[in-house]
Amino acid sequence: MRKIYFYCYDLPEKKDWLRQSMEDLSKCLALPPAEIYYEFAELPADYESDIDNILNDDKDDLHCYEAALIEYFSKKQSQVSSLLVICSEKSPFRKKALALLPHALWGIATHSFSATYALYDQYIVWHEMLHLLGADDCYDIDKGDRGPNCGSPNCIMQYEALKINVGEWPFLCNNNISMIKRRLERWNNN
Ligand SMILES: [Zn+2]
Ligand SMILES: [Zn+2]
Repeated sequence: MRKIYFYCYDLPEKKDWLRQSMEDLSKCLALPPAEIYYEFAELPADYESDIDNILNDDKDDLHCYEAALIEYFSKKQSQVSSLLVICSEKSPFRKKALALLPHALWGIATHSFSATYALYDQYIVWHEMLHLLGADDCYDIDKGDRGPNCGSPNCIMQYEALKINVGEWPFLCNNNISMIKRRLERWNNN
């Protein structure tokens, strides 16, 4: 099964908070109606400075960061892993991400790399983490639709995934539950 690591990029003081938050997300996902069993992993300490170097690099596109991370993990442990990073509002990485994607006010996500820099609400971090598990956005900001447009009024994959809009579990629509299950199945078979 593919690993998804989580890492505090320039926020070492948030380590315990992030670990707890990731455990809480796993507990939610394990409940009906999802019953998805998946544990996220803390980035090994001896990977940290290499990951910092990759993120500190100036790249033209978010997919270039993703590609560099995939290459790194593949070399380091001969398997592909995904990575969620949290960074401070002041971090240079946030600046770069916003320059590349101006509407990404809370965070960004590609297939196997996501970053979030809006840490006043753990639901934002969960939203970006769920992308790495296979969830899609339930909004279309280009059409002015902030969502959720999936029929689940408190779906966490809406544009503003704040506690006030999301609330208690279950906060994931059926479509995204199926998508996550499909991705995990694929990982399981590889
Ligand atoms: Zn999203
Ligand atoms: Zn949804």
